[in-house]
Amino acid sequence: MCSGETLRIVYNEKLISRKNKDLRGDKMRIKWLGHAAFILEGSKNIVIDPFLTGNPLSPLKPEEVDADIIAVTHGHGDHLGDAVEIALKNDAPIICIHELSRFLSRKGVEAVGMNIGGTAKLKDVAVTMVQALHSADVEENDEIVSTGDAAGVIVEMDGVRVYHTGDTDVFTDMRLIAELYSPDVMLVPIGDWYTMGIKGAVKALEFVRPRFAIPMHYNTFPVIKTNPEEFRKAVKEANIETEVVILKPGEFFEI
Ligand SMILES: [Zn+2]
Repeated sequence: MCSGETLRIVYNEKLISRKNKDLRGDKMRIKWLGHAAFILEGSKNIVIDPFLTGNPLSPLKPEEVDADIIAVTHGHGDHLGDAVEIALKNDAPIICIHELSRFLSRKGVEAVGMNIGGTAKLKDVAVTMVQALHSADVEENDEIVSTGDAAGVIVEMDGVRVYHTGDTDVFTDMRLIAELYSPDVMLVPIGDWYTMGIKGAVKALEFVRPRFAIPMHYNTFPVIKTNPEEFRKAVKEANIETEVVILKPGEFFEI
């Protein structure tokens, strides 16, 4: 556990009977680091889109992050973030789309390049890459470097499937993703402007119908200022059974 981080366990009422069980081992902790950055803590630590430096909401510095695997949904700076530094410090591979992996390999990290529809199995964890509707290039030294398409990822670890959509608008093939992978938890952008806003995110839950949804990609910058309680209310009004779990940066949800 890193010093200085704020931890609050957010329990779902349906899971409350599990409260007294060992907190580690048979459950996964989904910890939000602000923006689209998460750590899935289970039998392994899976770090997704670790934008920490320059992220005003991040409770952690990159040197405080322990990672077994890093997954990056696309090359934009607010997703690639500190992935290289964390990968080098932890000797951890970065899973990402093929073209981005070629770019990252030149930085001296172990980059595992794959593509939409594929599943990479490493360290008892399965990472499936799925479609996202977004752009994806890296900006380096004021130059745009082409690094393939944007993606979402579904991480399956310890029997739990977490769907991190990446940056995306809603699309009807989310239904297909739901049919193929039945995610338990969906990490869904609600901030608008660069991604879908609340209206699109509610429709995305209607398509995927996960048990739980954690909103992300909001309030990091003024242009994506959004009240997550309005998202929760809109999900309820749409009669979607998914439970919306609102985290503060540094908090985790346990499943
Ligand atoms: Zn982006």
